[in-house]
Amino acid sequence: MRDSYGRQIDYLRVSVTDRCNLRCIYCMPESGIPHIEHSSILRLEEIQQLVGLIHEALNLRKIRLTGGEPLVRKGIVSLVKTLSQLAETAMTTNGILLPKFASELQEAGLSRVNISIDSLKNDVIRRVTRRDVTLGMVESAIQAAKENDLNPVKLNCVVLKGVNSGELADLITWAHNMGTVMRFIEHMPMTDSQCDHVPRDRILEEVPAEFIATEGTADMYMTPSGIKFGIIAPVAGGMCANCTRLRLTAEGELLPCLAGGESLNLGKMLRSGNSSTEMISAVHALVAKKPHHGACGGVSMWRIGG
Ligand code: SAM
Ligand code: SF4
Repeated sequence: MRDSYGRQIDYLRVSVTDRCNLRCIYCMPESGIPHIEHSSILRLEEIQQLVGLIHEALNLRKIRLTGGEPLVRKGIVSLVKTLSQLAETAMTTNGILLPKFASELQEAGLSRVNISIDSLKNDVIRRVTRRDVTLGMVESAIQAAKENDLNPVKLNCVVLKGVNSGELADLITWAHNMGTVMRFIEHMPMTDSQCDHVPRDRILEEVPAEFIATEGTADMYMTPSGIKFGIIAPVAGGMCANCTRLRLTAEGELLPCLAGGESLNLGKMLRSGNSSTEMISAVHALVAKKPHHGACGGVSMWRIGG
């Protein structure tokens, strides 16, 4: 289905949990997430039902599992097995548990993964994640993904003033040597973030490069030495025109925009016994009202999954 701006809405990001094994400074408070009643989190069968219903409404082309950290959710492999029968299913993960799950996920039908990494320096990685994470752990995750054909592996790095700005050229080269592609994400000033923003222009001052193409929400660039990398610039803008996404939170809220705005509580509709026809009509009505663009902030990234 197309929205009122002519965008084909066929990509669903599903946050399968709001829990995480890390506490990144741009995403979660140090103390973890506010307590949410276990009963308000969708059960796996409910996620399957809702995604099935959204697929019926929109004929999804792609599903991405995110979180919180998707790999801390019990039953994630069986969820992948069901959802990958509907549409291409990918995952965004911090990679910590990927060596344990990569082979099972691939067998279950996962097509590929994006892995988050914000620095090459262990002390900076620890400062950002507030956990004892090392570069070696992320390299093992990348290796596990590649060995299990979860290709192409893309890397997400949130650029943070005074934290990892200054390392960007090294990150691009390292990613290339690992057989992956680095994508820099402009930091979004969401609730729970404690970081300073580096805009796209500043990123390009640090790593001068030529624009080559737009791939989804990422603008791709080529360095003078011929290495490709991406910039995802939700704050500088430009990516909303190509947005084909809806987001389903772990509590069953369907959001038309990362920036919040009007949403649909599909989980509640399911639990209240609404019919499939009623829920499909509600999804169509939400898509029709998807805003052209939104302003970041006011919501937490761990809740909506990035
Ligand atoms: N735990 C997984 C991970 O970190 O990859 C998946 C969930 S995380 C919320 C999804 C993506 O959102 C990650 O790539 C993360 O770097 C990004 N993210 C989180 N907070 C952000 C912020 N304030 N600004 C920009 N990106 C952010
Ligand atoms: Fe966890 Fe991902 Fe948020 Fe970091 S960005 S705290 S890994 S959900």
